Parts: sequence; structure tokens; C-alpha cells
Amino acid sequence: MTTHDNAGRTGPRLRGVLDTLPAYKPGKPAAAGSGAPSYKLSSNENPYPPLPGVLEQVTAAAGSFNRYPDMACSALTAELAERFGVPQEHIATGTGSVGVAQSLLQATAGPGDEVVYAWRSFEAYPIITQISGATSVQVPLLPDESHDLDAMAAAVTDRTRLIFVCNPNNPTGTAVRRDALVRFLDRVPSDVLVVLDEAYKEFVRDEEIPDGVELYRDRPNVAVLRTFSKAYGLAGLRVGFAIAHEPVAEALRKTAVPFGVSQLAQDAAVASLRAEDALLERVEALVGERTRVAGALTAQGWTVPDTQANFVWLRLGARTLEFAEACAAAGVTVRPFAGEGVRVTIGEKEANDLFLEVAAGLV
Ligand SMILES: *Cc1c(COP(=O)(O)O)cnc(C)c1O
Repeated sequence: MTTHDNAGRTGPRLRGVLDTLPAYKPGKPAAAGSGAPSYKLSSNENPYPPLPGVLEQVTAAAGSFNRYPDMACSALTAELAERFGVPQEHIATGTGSVGVAQSLLQATAGPGDEVVYAWRSFEAYPIITQISGATSVQVPLLPDESHDLDAMAAAVTDRTRLIFVCNPNNPTGTAVRRDALVRFLDRVPSDVLVVLDEAYKEFVRDEEIPDGVELYRDRPNVAVLRTFSKAYGLAGLRVGFAIAHEPVAEALRKTAVPFGVSQLAQDAAVASLRAEDALLERVEALVGERTRVAGALTAQGWTVPDTQANFVWLRLGARTLEFAEACAAAGVTVRPFAGEGVRVTIGEKEANDLFLEVAAGLV
């Protein structure tokens, strides 16, 4: 038999881990075609179209997409370092903060290692953990839908390499407070990386919820993840970043896909930071809508956990899919987690009104 003999072979051998990988379910698009207005409240996107100034930057950058982007994302890195008051070497950019999270796993964990996170939490965590070859250790949320930090600290073993704390948590919207998080960080061994995933930071209004950037400063084992996809409205351009000490940030630069962040994304992110006041006004309006939607749902009789993000969570159990289908039929797509609950993004006022109208009929 030669090495070219294909007898009995069925194709390239793929890693077995892929067979059991949970699929990332993107939020369904808004229903099309009926003529009635329809809205997408299923992906936590920003409902506002790009700011004119940001759009102009992107349009200008499009004129040279025959060239590779700046691989080091220099202008964006410099802008972020200044904005957060951190050294440029502590910034690592990537294709959305999910891309950065995947690089963090590649840099820290492999077969035999453990990754601890709350569950239910962000659906990318089990996927990227499994791809790395490491084992997920999922710690159930408390009855109030928040992280059980005591149980998470107790779940750390000498195999633990990374812990995700999703703050606020997707999909429940709950957030952990400063005292509890500091106590937790003090319990975690210094050789375990704690990743504070702050994708919704800009929507937080509870002053007891800490800014991860303040917590990372004197803790070399803490990394903060941020994204331009939510508050900054750049979901379609794929750009996010980590703030972390060396050597973590350096490891991220080593494991990132080369040229992963397009020049369009880099320029849009810089323009967005410069237009932060206008963008944060929009965030403020969404926070106002969040208060209105959560209040109206509560008045209708629903149980709504305190949310610090741009979505609300309804734990509906067996009624989840039926509820989501009724919303879709009325022209609002929400994000169901079968058997658990629905996550509903805060959108434009008309979308929220329509959702509240449907919800009122389903109590
Ligand atoms: C949306 C989200 C992200 C960011 O996604 P990217 O678009 O890849 O930046 C990260 N973490 C959580 C918890 C999210 O909900």
C-alpha cells in the first residue's frame, strides 16, 4: 500500500470536536413582504443608521480596498489608548470582540484545560471554548438571573485557564456589582485569566456596576473586552478590542488573524470615538426606551429582571417558542432560547411599541 492509496478513506479527517459543536444562532431578520412594518429585535443591534460623519469616513476608505489594511490598527490603537488612559501596548484589536475572545482562548487554553463561565450567558462562549479543545465548566445563574460568583470561584481548579464574566450578562441583562466582583477577583488565582466581557458597558446606569478598565489596572490577570458593535453601531464592520496587560495583550496580537480588521472598520471606529457625544446621546435615548419598556412589561404583569443592557429578558420556559412566534406574526422578531426564555432588544420607539402591544396580549 502506498501513501496515495485511498482505499477505505472517506475524506479529510476533521476534528471530532466539531461534531458536537453548538451552532451560533444569529437573530432572525425582520419579516419581509407583508407590507406591514416589521422590526428586528433579535440581535441587540443599534437601531440608528450610521452617523453621517462616520459613513463619510467609511465611504472614503472604500476607495482603497485593493490595499491591505494597517495590520497594527495604529490609529485606532492610539485613539483607544488615549481615550482609556492606558498604554498602547495594552490594546489588542480584533474582528469584533468575539474574534478577540477566540484569540484569548487560543492564547490560554487547549485540551485538558477548563474554561469557567455562567450559564445561560453569551452563546459564543461554549462554541469558542470547544473549538480551542478546552472543556467548558458552566455555572448556573442565580434565581435572579445574575452570575453566581461564589459558585464560579468554587469551580476553579488547577486546570482552569480562563473565566468569562459577562457584565452585563447576555441574554439576561443583569450585571454584577463592584464589591462582589472585587471579592471574586481576589479569590481567583493570579495565573487564571479573568475576562470581563463588557459589550454593553455604555448602557450601564447603575453606579455600583464597576468599569472593568478600572479593575484591570492593578490586576495583571484581568482583561476587558469591548466592542464597537452595540452602542457605537458598527456591528456590520466587525471591530472590537481588549485592554489587558502584557504579556496577554501581546499574546492576542500573536494569535489574531492577520489583517482581520478592515480599513473601513478601523476608520469607522476612529470616527466613532471622535463622534462619541452624538453616539452616546443615542445610547441615552435607548436607555430611556429600556426604562419605558421594562416598566410597561412589569405593569402588564411580566417578571423582568433588572437590565443594564440594550435588551430585556423574559424567562418563559415552555412558552418561549409560542411567544416568539406570536411576536414574529405581528412583525417583531425576538431571540428565543427554547425552553428558557426570550431576549428582546430595545429598538426604535415604533418597534418597542409594537412589541409591547403583542406582549400585552400574551400575559
Ligand atoms: C454582542 C456581544 C459581543 C460582541 O460581538 P462582536 O460583534 O463580535 O464585537 C461580545 N460579547 C457579548 C456578550 C455580546 O453580546
